[in-house]
Amino acid sequence: MRVRFWGTRGSIATPGEGTIRYGGNTSCIEVQSASGTRVLIDCGTGIRGLGDLLMASGARPLCGHILISHTHWDHIQGLPFFVPLFIPGNEWDIYAPQGFEQSLQETLAGQMQYTYFPITLGELGANVRYHEIVEGSFLAGGIHVHAQYLNHPALTLGYRLEADGAVVVYACDHEPHSRPLAAGDGAIGGLDQRHVEFLASADLVIHDAQYTAAEYDSKKGWGHSTAEYAAEVSRCAGAHRLALTHHDPRRDDAAVDRIVTDIRRRVAASGSSMEVFGAAEGLVVELHGATDLHLPLLTGEVSAIAPLPSALFERTVLIAVADAATAAAVLQAVEANGIRAIVEVDGDRALARASDERPSLVIVDQHLPGVDGPAVRRAIRGSGGEDESDVPIIVVADREKSAAAGGDDGVSDWLVTPFSTAYMRTRVRSWLLRTACRWQKAPLPPDEERRLAALLQLRILDTPPEERFDRLTRLAAAIFDVPTVLVSLIDRDRQWFKSGYGAGVRETPREEAFCAHAVVSRALLVVPDAMLDERFADNPTVTGEPRIRFYAGQPLIVPDGSCVGTVCLIDSRPRELDEKQKGLLADIGLLVRRELLSTDRQADAAAAFAKGASAD
Ligand SMILES: [Zn+2]
Ligand SMILES: [Zn+2]
Repeated sequence: MRVRFWGTRGSIATPGEGTIRYGGNTSCIEVQSASGTRVLIDCGTGIRGLGDLLMASGARPLCGHILISHTHWDHIQGLPFFVPLFIPGNEWDIYAPQGFEQSLQETLAGQMQYTYFPITLGELGANVRYHEIVEGSFLAGGIHVHAQYLNHPALTLGYRLEADGAVVVYACDHEPHSRPLAAGDGAIGGLDQRHVEFLASADLVIHDAQYTAAEYDSKKGWGHSTAEYAAEVSRCAGAHRLALTHHDPRRDDAAVDRIVTDIRRRVAASGSSMEVFGAAEGLVVELHGATDLHLPLLTGEVSAIAPLPSALFERTVLIAVADAATAAAVLQAVEANGIRAIVEVDGDRALARASDERPSLVIVDQHLPGVDGPAVRRAIRGSGGEDESDVPIIVVADREKSAAAGGDDGVSDWLVTPFSTAYMRTRVRSWLLRTACRWQKAPLPPDEERRLAALLQLRILDTPPEERFDRLTRLAAAIFDVPTVLVSLIDRDRQWFKSGYGAGVRETPREEAFCAHAVVSRALLVVPDAMLDERFADNPTVTGEPRIRFYAGQPLIVPDGSCVGTVCLIDSRPRELDEKQKGLLADIGLLVRRELLSTDRQADAAAAFAKGASAD
């Protein structure tokens, strides 16, 4: 494998006499396998020079793969200047982390709107295929690629490339999970250990090293590594070479030299023979690899390729729902995905449209005027012979009906009312793409009615904020070093916050609530990384604001045994809780519970003492 650096600068291009040796262009790496597969990682401004060189070579067609770590500007800004994308006959595959609000194509098109650039993304001459990916593995030509999430404010993937018995890992932009590790000290554990495994035995690690340990204190949360951390994780991973990259724009060549010298000294002092250098524009590294390399698969052979959202736009959804409000809600969610929908309110018309339009998804009421819901289902499914339709048929029902139902033939899934547009939108995508919906509503606990009665009896819902709760969430935020701590009570259709340290809202829908899952389990629920959890990965509080990555909820159980809610910790970075911290969170849970149960009478007595009145 041959690796060439085309851009090594972080944040913004910094040409000038001070950056001649390490280069001023933003991130771009070129990797070529012996068989000729070309993979480019990130398309910062450095990609322009590579495009010009490829064009000058005269080779046609020009084909390759572009892996984008994330769509921050310093990683995509060179794309509109990469000439091979403009030439008909060329073939390019572009991969980037799957977002939720916008498709990859929409995001890239954004920076090529006429306001910013004279040619739009749609006018590129080459055949460009867009792939939205998640953690996992895929083949880019002859190169085996593993993608793994990094720790950065934007959803970001690192890439591990294996070919010709050699391994190169690109991990940029990434912040240490554990803060002591930013100084290169302390034991590696948890998600930092997972990161070390991602770098395991690499011939070359290309790692974010934007800051030094001395600078890090004022850069916490910016999503970047220190050179000390890059060295420590690479050394522990048994990497052979480390290229420090994403150089801070304030850093001239002499300053990068000083960091490299310092890190080499550090690595040598630890007894490691790992080679360390500063990534420099134009530098070429040949990797020959170990001949008998047997690499463990890091995340299993899970496909990283998510289905193309563009495949959605050719679909039609038939909505056969009698209730006007429900039909409107379903329609809104379907159209929010940019998908065509037909609405019918009776069974006869629905059947006629189904045979004319051949919909890709049918959402049908349990009960319809005219031909009834079950009959519509049977008719659409067909006779069960060769040409039986396998179109997903979703049945709309309220809670009781769906609970009583079961064993109905022809039903692909149930849609339980009520639901929010966000939830329905996610479900529609997963039904159409026939993928698992990675957002699960918590089921209702078996003692739901008694639980709700117990919650009401506390007479706390919709009361104003109180210092006695706020001081506990404030303390918890400081103890666990998390931005958000909630006292969340699970009402019939919402979670309501008696106290919300760092929260901007007083309530959210129950279906989005992590706490609703904790209430069902009645035990501490820890989600170290919501992006990796099938129950939460597509939850809008994960894919959108407040971008929850870490959650820990301690159930609040009142004397009759009902679980009314939780006190929970939330962070926008992945985390873990050790045993001692779990104990502390349980303690805080007991304190919150005591406040929940403290009666007005006690409060009155306290007030009386404060006034110096006699206790009788
Ligand atoms: Zn960056
Ligand atoms: Zn970034």
